[in-house]
This record gives sequence, C-alpha cells and structure tokens, in this order.
Amino acid sequence: MPQSKAGRVAFEPLLLGLRRIPELHGVARDGDSLRIGALVTMTELMESALVRAHCPILVEAADQFASDQVRNVATIGGNVCNASPAGDTLVPLLALDAEVELVAKPNGLLTGRRVPIGEFFKGPGKTLRARHEIVAALRVPIGVPGRFMRFFKLGSRPALDISAISIGVCARRDAGVLSEVRVAFGAVAPVPLRGRATEAALEGRQLTEAVIETAAAAARDEVHPIDDFRASAWYRREMVHNMLKKVLADAT
Ligand SMILES: Cc1cc2nc3c(=O)[nH]c(=O)nc-3n(C[C@H](O)[C@H](O)[C@H](O)COP(=O)(O)OP(=O)(O)OC[C@H]3O[C@@H](n4cnc5c(N)ncnc54)[C@H](O)[C@@H]3O)c2cc1C
Repeated sequence: MPQSKAGRVAFEPLLLGLRRIPELHGVARDGDSLRIGALVTMTELMESALVRAHCPILVEAADQFASDQVRNVATIGGNVCNASPAGDTLVPLLALDAEVELVAKPNGLLTGRRVPIGEFFKGPGKTLRARHEIVAALRVPIGVPGRFMRFFKLGSRPALDISAISIGVCARRDAGVLSEVRVAFGAVAPVPLRGRATEAALEGRQLTEAVIETAAAAARDEVHPIDDFRASAWYRREMVHNMLKKVLADAT
C-alpha cells in the first residue's frame, strides 16, 4: 500500500490471491531442511516449535519486525519478494544459507526450481523471480544443534521501524573455536550482503578481543551503505563495526 500510494508500484489489471494454496502454508521438516511455506507470517514464525528449535535467529528477526498487527499479516514470502535491502528476514535467511523454492505452471505443467538466497536478490525490489513464478517456500538446512545464532537490528526506535542496519551471525562453536561462520548485513548495500571478509576473520578462531576487533574492522570495510533519511553512510559503517563487536562479545 505505501508503495502504490507513493506511485512506485502500479496495480496490475489481474490480481492473484495465494492464501488458499495449502502447500504455501506451514513449517515442516523435510530431510535435512526446514521447509517454511511462503505464506508463513511473522507471528507463525515466532510460534513455530520447529523454527524456534532450529532457526532461533528467524524468531529474533520476526520478534523485532514492525508491530503485532503487521506481524500477523506479513509473510516471509512477501518479505523475500519485496526484496528491500532492509528486509528483516533476509539477513537471517542469508546467514542460514537458505534456498528459495520457486514454482510455476507454464502450459499446465507444474515446474519448480531452487535458488540459493544469496543469488536471489538483484537490487532494491528486484529478484531472480520470473513474472510467471511464485515463491512457494524458503528451505533452511538444519545444522548441528547448539549453533550460535544472533540477529541484531538498529532502528531509530524499538517498534515499527525499518532497519538502519541489521546484522545476522550464525556459527558452530567447538571448544570455543568458530567454524562454518556466516555473517550477513542488511541496509548497507543495494541487496542484503554476506560478509565474506568478516567471516574469514572469524573462521577457525577463538573469540578473543583481538579477533573480535579484526572482524568488526573487516565488516566496516566491506559494507557499502548510502546516505539516506534513516542514517548517513558513515554512521551505518560505524554502527556495523560497533554492533558486530557487541553481538560477538555476547557470544563469548
Ligand atoms: C507499517 C509497515 C511496517 C513494516 N515493517 C517492516 C519491518 O519492520 N521489517 C520488514 O522487513 N518489513 C517491514 N514492512 C514491509 C512489509 O510489510 C514486509 O516486507 C512483509 O513481509 C511483506 O509481506 P506480505 O505478505 O504483506 O507481502 P505483500 O506486501 O503482499 O507482497 C510484497 C510483494 O511480493 C509479492 N509476493 C508476495 N508473496 C509472494 C509469493 N509467495 N510469490 C511471489 N510473489 C509474492 C507481491 O505480489 C508484492 O509484489 C513494513 C510494512 C508496513 C506497511
């Protein structure tokens, strides 16, 4: 509604309602993955025992999403298709190595494909999704139990605000040594970003003060935010540095 009222999005002559497609609802375990239906709302994410057990970082993101009213209707599929660089579930999904499940029915035949979420976003509001496809689900690999996961969102107020920056971290920790480290950032580039240099600074290391500082500095260097009415590029870089330090310090 805000986008159409601002004139950025025109209503299509044909609208398609997805709500009654059962395959787009619910969270289920499918082998080594969780299949989260595209129509799962933020409230349902927070209440799902499977999501809470295997992807608590998504629960954290949903908990900080807008307000109760918006959480009750906003779906994870809509958040992904909206492709805002500040979309709150995109950062955890990147940190979790999720895949986007797309389906289409050209010529009456149902076809599907899966795209790694890191390849799905092409720019603000732009994705790899073809016009005739819908997002059916998000698939999240179930990693080893007890991984460290954290989502951090910075806005100008605690409720009903879009992220000025957001950070997602997911890692294994064996005897204090980090492995399979995934770090993602939101609102600091045209698309949600994997922090490859930050990950390299953490992989295989103990979380000492020096390692945390090196990783936070790498994060500040690899994001490329813009100035806008929410925050300046300089402020965003500094907050990425400072807040990643806080997230990692919490992990110790
Ligand atoms: C007041 C307000 C507060 C908000 N706060 C936040 C916030 O805190 N964090 C945040 O990340 N976002 C926020 N948003 C943005 C928005 O609500 C979310 O992106 C939400 O997740 C969108 O989900 P939806 O189901 O409402 O999608 P819709 O708005 O219905 O759809 C978004 C777009 O994706 C398409 N689409 C939806 N589902 C599918 C599908 N399964 N397959 C193919 N295309 C699809 C639609 O056609 C449309 O173009 C806010 C919006 C408002 C109005």
